[in-house]
Amino acid sequence: MKQYKTIVVKVGTNVLTGEQGLLDHDHIKHLTDQLATLKKQNIKIILVSSGAVGAGKAVLPPATNELNKVVRRQVLSSVGQIQLMNLYTSNFSEHQIFCAQLLVTKEDFRDRIHYLNMKNCFLSLQREEIIPIVNENDVVSVSELMFTDNDELAGLIASMVNADALIILTNVDGIYDGHPEAATSQLITEIQPNDPGILAAISPTKSKFGRGGMLTKYRIASKAASVGIATVIANGKRQNILVDILNNDFVGTSFLPEQNVSNLKKWIAYNEPTNTVVIINEGAKQALCSSEKVSSLLPVGIVAINGNFKKGDLIKIADQNNQQIGLGIAQYNSEKATKFIGVQDKKPLIHYDYLFIEK
Ligand code: GLU
Repeated sequence: MKQYKTIVVKVGTNVLTGEQGLLDHDHIKHLTDQLATLKKQNIKIILVSSGAVGAGKAVLPPATNELNKVVRRQVLSSVGQIQLMNLYTSNFSEHQIFCAQLLVTKEDFRDRIHYLNMKNCFLSLQREEIIPIVNENDVVSVSELMFTDNDELAGLIASMVNADALIILTNVDGIYDGHPEAATSQLITEIQPNDPGILAAISPTKSKFGRGGMLTKYRIASKAASVGIATVIANGKRQNILVDILNNDFVGTSFLPEQNVSNLKKWIAYNEPTNTVVIINEGAKQALCSSEKVSSLLPVGIVAINGNFKKGDLIKIADQNNQQIGLGIAQYNSEKATKFIGVQDKKPLIHYDYLFIEK
């Protein structure tokens, strides 16, 4: 078995439910049995589980009155979450393993105190050999407050607990170079760090029940790998998939982790930036995104600065289509940076050691 110390496993609704959208009790038992096997190998596990809304739908009759969608989702998830946790609790107890429920929101990752409280709780549960089971708190996080999906949440947690591996289980075998159902599509089994061109091949098709779809999965996985977390996307419906992944004998897509990533880079990648956006031109974009050579962000490549920042602030970098391409720590403030826009031979606004580029 791979010598991982800490892994984050994310299971999507489509893995936990059957054809009719009902919770698949047998399969959930099979997943918990596998997690118990890994736990017995002294691997610390954090489970990020979706399925609350799905479980709620499975037990509740259709809404009788005209509830709006947001309210209906709150009702379904609050009912479904305990159904799901009941199953996990009773399955894990057969292995004499305790599990715990952690419901979190995006805000909890933005607020420093909440973040540290959460982190302490994860570490304490791990010390006591308890498996934390995490889901978004769907009751309070609605509309724009929501994570893109639980894949995003799983990536944040993997970085928070310094996991060595992130395993995202879904209902397809991994990332394909075309539509997953087209006969001509091939599974991409390995993605190197900084692999250019892969993005264009990914099907934008969303899975039946999930929120984010494959493109989000790719982005989350490649970001985790680029800060040194070995990441796998695989089919959670396959028998023994988790054990097979840890034995390195599986069908799926592996994102090979970048080596020797500094803690500072990890911090930049997963921290909440200020609202400032530095817009750069095409040439600067090419230079920053190049897989051949690392570059700093120079004022000559900047076309606009939207917002104010101080020296040391974490700021966003976007291209002229407003597509975010990275984050970095400013070496000087926005007043000075604004004076230098488009000027050659000025000190980099962001040095490459303080820069994280999203692939
Ligand atoms: N939190 C949602 C649930 O438990 C799932 C979110 C997602 O699809 O990732 O149903």
